[in-house]
Amino acid sequence: MLVLVINSGSSSLKYQVRDVTAEKVLLEGLVEKIGVGNGGGGDGEVLGPKDHAEALELVDAAITAELGGVRLEAVGHRVVHGGERFGEPVLITSEITRAIERLNPLAPLHNPASVLGIRAIAKKWPDLPQVAVFDTAFHRTLPEYAWRYAIPDSLYTNHGIRRYGFHGTSHAYVTQQAAALLQIPVGEFDGVIAHLGNGASVAAIQGGLSVDTSMGFTPLEGLVMGTRSGDLDPSILVFLSRAGWSVEDIDTLLNRESGLKGLAGDNDMRSVVEQAEAGNPRAAMALAVASYRLAKYIGGYHVAVGGARAVVFTAGIGENSSQFRALVVERLGALGIRLDAELNGVRSKEARVISTLSSAIPVLVIPTDEERAIAEATAAVVGAP
Ligand code: AMP
Repeated sequence: MLVLVINSGSSSLKYQVRDVTAEKVLLEGLVEKIGVGNGGGGDGEVLGPKDHAEALELVDAAITAELGGVRLEAVGHRVVHGGERFGEPVLITSEITRAIERLNPLAPLHNPASVLGIRAIAKKWPDLPQVAVFDTAFHRTLPEYAWRYAIPDSLYTNHGIRRYGFHGTSHAYVTQQAAALLQIPVGEFDGVIAHLGNGASVAAIQGGLSVDTSMGFTPLEGLVMGTRSGDLDPSILVFLSRAGWSVEDIDTLLNRESGLKGLAGDNDMRSVVEQAEAGNPRAAMALAVASYRLAKYIGGYHVAVGGARAVVFTAGIGENSSQFRALVVERLGALGIRLDAELNGVRSKEARVISTLSSAIPVLVIPTDEERAIAEATAAVVGAP
């Protein structure tokens, strides 16, 4: 079964054509600068496609050029926000598209782009079934005491202000893979998953279900990320606002200028680690802040799940940075969790155990694959043969 997986951003469209049955990626690509570059620049300026419909023509041309006359059977969209309604992937109808659009205020940078992608495909290939796979969906099982903020109820009832959580497709996929590696049914997996990429979140998994996660109303809450601050005292916003900062200034500060970038001047974990190893104290402090914060979350979620049976690292940093993993797990010694330095140092694309035999619980590295998860969910919804 051939599925086109689409991740629409406001000015980009990332895609993969996957053969779900053969578990293979046949083609992948990225169309950038959608709607960008028409500013009347000089000769030679590369103009991007004018909108998502035009971007889709480029995707179609690439599919024809690379794969000839293949017949796509479905399209799976990564949709960031499913609000309270969507706890599962759904077949897209015009009513579903409008429901996703109604969630735009909750994800103003992401949902509008998904809607544009969905409508462009519906117009170009009206008979192709489309499925929405939501980043929030896996966290719909959070108990109310975990998703509530301690603010007046009217903010929840009138504005939907509550914790939603993100990276759900990755956390769900890694939960399944972790259970498989431990050779237990997924419904028996209790653990803590750290998805550490440019954006980063931890999830507490009990009985295979998400019971808490570090991102909240938006993907800003929680861990120290590439350019996002994660948790901070909300009074800082009030203080800055009174000092004359605009809403846009504060938004930029917390989402684009903070995190590793704010602390070390660089948002890329590889260079932060290199600089710390070369003796740069700001880089070393950035790693200390980020690893300390994550270790506290892991300790807290160990309690949340009633005793984790594993700690799992995934995504760009989690899969590749042995140095960052070591800094985090060093702090988990109080829980009897111990890393095997040699296993931690192995570079591999395989799911693996990196703790000692005497560790109280295993520490795992599990590569995530959100596109694969989206393609499989899409095939399941449209009914793979
Ligand atoms: P992602 O968003 O999952 O692609 O992850 C991006 C993050 O992973 C960046 O901070 C990268 O520096 C980090 N990363 C990717 N490869 C490596 C590596 N080999 N060692 C350390 N960090 C890495």
